[in-house]
This record gives sequence, structure tokens and C-alpha cells, in this order.
Amino acid sequence: MRERARAVVVGGGVGGCAILYWLARLGWSDVLLVERADLTSGSTFHSAGLVGQLRGSLSLTKMMMSSVALYRELGDEVGLETGWREVGSLRLASSQERMEELARQAGWAKTFGLPLELVSAEDAKRLFPPMSIDGVLGAAYLPTDGYVDPSQLTFALAEGARRRGAEIATRTRVTGVRVERNRVTAVETDQGDVETELVVNAGGMFAGEIGALAGVVVPIVPMAHEYLITRPAGVPLDVPTMRDPSLLVYFR
Ligand SMILES: Cc1cc2nc3c(=O)[nH]c(=O)nc-3n(C[C@H](O)[C@H](O)[C@H](O)COP(=O)(O)OP(=O)(O)OC[C@H]3O[C@@H](n4cnc5c(N)ncnc54)[C@H](O)[C@@H]3O)c2cc1C
Repeated sequence: MRERARAVVVGGGVGGCAILYWLARLGWSDVLLVERADLTSGSTFHSAGLVGQLRGSLSLTKMMMSSVALYRELGDEVGLETGWREVGSLRLASSQERMEELARQAGWAKTFGLPLELVSAEDAKRLFPPMSIDGVLGAAYLPTDGYVDPSQLTFALAEGARRRGAEIATRTRVTGVRVERNRVTAVETDQGDVETELVVNAGGMFAGEIGALAGVVVPIVPMAHEYLITRPAGVPLDVPTMRDPSLLVYFR
């Protein structure tokens, strides 16, 4: 592992690897990512990988749109699968209030240049046949949404970063962050120290612990998230993802 780096990214989930990829792509080749276990051994491994571009703010929506643009080309760039499938997404409305929310979102989507359509409950069922439409008033359909394989995506981002000179050290736990006069000077790990002036905390639910090493409070509270995986049930793989915000469930 190098002893000096322009930046050290802590955490080898999809967040850390995406940051490493973009640093390297923007010309910062002297960068290091440290991961205490293996890449994707945190939350990333469990993610369903749904990618929904329409968010509550302009900056987040733009970020998601540029992510989709990257997912379309990253596989070819690095020669690894990302599992990106542009199957579209459905967001159901089961009350008048939800319908109004969808209509508002359709307006925003237009300003962002996203091809979001409002569809009837029957059309939603045609797009996602396994669902019952009892009580469903309508849905928003965004054909350019989809899903990735989060682990494959992480490995593809890591490969793209490595090819541009970035280094990834797995089985390397950050144990301390040295700070002098309010500035970071080094990261301490169980495999040795790395001098750096810039540390990126991409520790996911452990970001609080990592921040505390530098005396920084990161207000993160882990929440339980349950999921079920079924056996193949004859549903084609190219049906859109589906989310019912009133019932707090989503399907892929
Ligand atoms: C069941 C489930 C379903 C989900 N579905 C979706 C979805 O459909 N769409 C979506 O966008 N998101 C989804 N998410 C959320 C998504 O998984 C997370 O937002 C994302 O994976 C977080 O990535 P990360 O890189 O920030 O964190 P993580 O993947 O948790 O990575 C953090 C890494 O930091 C490492 N680390 C911690 N401490 C140290 C240390 N001291 N030194 C070195 N390394 C350290 C850990 O080992 C870990 O690998 C889902 C999450 C869950 C649990």
C-alpha cells in the first residue's frame, strides 16, 4: 500500500468506489481506497439496486441522471458487467393525494427533461402484470429508470478507477485519522499509515465511527430494512420496477 496519497477514500461500497472512480476520471490518479473487509461487504451487497432518477431536489435528480448515463456506458468502458437494465419504473398512487403528488412530480420531471408519463391503473398492470390494482388510481411511469447489480457495479467502478492509477487496499481497517491544527495529515490503518491531506468518509452506516476518529460528528442513524427474495415465478425480467409509496414496498 502506498505511503502517501492525494486523497484516501474510506469504505469500499458503491459510494466509496464511485467517488474513487470519479476522482481518477477527473485526473486524480494518486488516490487510495481502504476497505476493512472486501469490496461490497457493507450495505451495498444487500441493495436491491433500484435506480430512480426523479428526486426531491434538482441536484439529486441531476446526480441520478448522470449516474444512469454512466451505467449505460461503464460496462463497455471497463469490460465488466454492471447488471444495468433500463426496464423503467412505476410509482403507484392509491389515494387522491398521491395522484396530486404524481401530477406535481410529472411537472418537475418535464423541467428536468425526464420522460415521465402518468398512466392509468390498467396500463400500470399491463406493464407490471403480477400486481393487483384494487384501490390503485393511477401511476407514474419513467421508462429510463431501471436497476443495477450493486456488487457488479461496484467492481466495475473499482476497475475503472484502478485503470486510471487508483489503488484499492482491502482487508485494511482505518483505526485513526491524524489531525494537526484542524487539518488532516494522515490516515492510520492496521496495515500502516498513509500521509494525506484529504480523507473521504464513505463508511456508509459506519460513517459516524469513522468521523469520530477525526473528531467530526456525522449524524447517521442505521435503520433496519427487510427484503424477500423469491424463486423465479415466471415474471419476465424486463418488467419495470414497481413502488407503492403508501404501502412502503417496492418490487424488482
Ligand atoms: C435491503 C436493502 C435494499 C436496498 N435497496 C436499495 C435500492 O434499491 N436502491 C438504492 O439506491 N439503494 C438501496 N439500498 C441502500 C444502498 O444499499 C446503500 O445506500 C448503499 O449501498 C450504501 O453504500 P455505501 O458505499 O455508502 O456503504 P456500504 O456499502 O455500507 O460501504 C461502507 C464500507 O465501509 C467499510 N468500513 C466501515 N468502517 C471501516 C473502517 N474503519 N475502515 C475501512 N473500511 C470501513 C465497510 O466494511 C463497508 O464495506 C438498500 C439497502 C438495503 C439494506
